[in-house]
Amino acid sequence: MIVQATAIPLAIYPWSSTSRIVHWLTHHQGKVSTLLKGALRPKSPFLGEYELFSTSELLYFAKPAKTLYTGKECALLHRRETFRTNWRAMQTASYITSLFNRTTPEEAHQPELFVLCEELLDLAEEYGQHPQYLLWAEFRFCEYHGHAPSLGHCVLCASDKELRFCAGQGGVVCMQCARARKLPILECPPDVLAILRAWQKARQPGPVVNTRLTARQLTALNAIAGTFMMYHFHLHPEYRNAALAAA
Ligand SMILES: [Zn+2]
Repeated sequence: MIVQATAIPLAIYPWSSTSRIVHWLTHHQGKVSTLLKGALRPKSPFLGEYELFSTSELLYFAKPAKTLYTGKECALLHRRETFRTNWRAMQTASYITSLFNRTTPEEAHQPELFVLCEELLDLAEEYGQHPQYLLWAEFRFCEYHGHAPSLGHCVLCASDKELRFCAGQGGVVCMQCARARKLPILECPPDVLAILRAWQKARQPGPVVNTRLTARQLTALNAIAGTFMMYHFHLHPEYRNAALAAA
């Protein structure tokens, strides 16, 4: 059966000197993997028709009980040019695609996930060079997966005094609960908590990237977001750090 899919390459691996394996996030088939035979040959129908962070129309042969399909052809629909020249934005796009790649099971039908991926990549072209954007994109990603951190009151006793952040509890906890349960906590000073609350509510990244941050605030925000992402999505911190090192 030939399947037609709008798709974004999440990762590209060499298979042989001329062939490539591509993991795609598709609009309606979920995540699929294809072998693109001879993709690097000069007359290949794939040449220049797919690249990381871009959207293509993909045709592939789907066979039941197989996990690696054979690509037939593809056509580039939307190249996100910015990532060729803006290295910082490219690092952010790279983190976003690795996030989707590592957390999406094969073939789960999630059209909204594809829409979110496209949206975050589109916005990364404009805002991806700002470290704040990465945090905002993570908020959106967490929200989609039903893991939005709880930032109001202590998640255990509803107190709003002496709040700290605890990834395992899914949000803020008060010092009393943290001590009583010996919870691993991160510092979350009131100014940092206020920033997190505002960014979680922000529907667009414009105001977020314009937030002026001190080095101390940025360090605290990244410690909180990094620990949270690692805890809930089992994401190795090196991916996040690579994106941040570029920012
Ligand atoms: Zn409490």
